[in-house]
Amino acid sequence: MSQITLFENNDHKNVLLEDYTEGEMIPANQHLIVHNGKAMLLDPGGHKIHSKVYAELSTLIAPPNLKYLFFSHQDPDIVAAANFWFMMTSAEGLMSQLWTRFVAHFGIDRVVFNRIRTIPDEGMVLDLEGVNLLIIPGHFLHSAGNFQVYDPVSKILYSGDLGASIGTEYRIVGDFDAHIPRIEWFHRRYMPTVKAFQLWATMIRELDIETIAPQHGAIYQGKENVNKFIDWVENVPCGLDRMDNLFRIPKVD
Ligand code: FE
Repeated sequence: MSQITLFENNDHKNVLLEDYTEGEMIPANQHLIVHNGKAMLLDPGGHKIHSKVYAELSTLIAPPNLKYLFFSHQDPDIVAAANFWFMMTSAEGLMSQLWTRFVAHFGIDRVVFNRIRTIPDEGMVLDLEGVNLLIIPGHFLHSAGNFQVYDPVSKILYSGDLGASIGTEYRIVGDFDAHIPRIEWFHRRYMPTVKAFQLWATMIRELDIETIAPQHGAIYQGKENVNKFIDWVENVPCGLDRMDNLFRIPKVD
């Protein structure tokens, strides 16, 4: 278990709680934003890791100071242990209005369901103890109801599955071109259409981003690699763009 501090000043800290997954689980990152002693946990993960993440988080903040649980989308590596987090903390949950009643299937008890605040499709500004976090639309990247978080203090964009890499030994992306083989297949297959990338790229260039921190794999640090990623993803044919010949009835050999 370990922590990587991505940013720190007197009243603000961004910590990557390093991957706790094992066995067959897809490796996943948990991120914590702390501002003036209050915190938001992003994409807390599933059942096999929740106690480890909780223990690690407790070294950074007292659990009652966890104010928000952010769920970028509805995948199990993000929401499966939601009930644990609601029962063990008093945090408010934030997720797309598309998913609240689906996530209830993971056993979210009636007593805590009303602690989920739905994020409207347009996104929102969220106050974390004095800092305005931006909850940004990231729909179809890859989920139909999908959000990202931009922290204006650290200038970190928490991008969810966008930018995710698989099989990386390194934590920080060095040579972006050498990193492309680690992201290409995932973006081609898990993302539905290049239009989502293009809408996102146009929007996101309005922000001053120093770091892109995905939910899986390595982190893009520094404007050069941040911009290289945005420029790259904007032109990746993916999903339905590549499936014209796939929709055929399977035949017996
Ligand atoms: Fe996902």
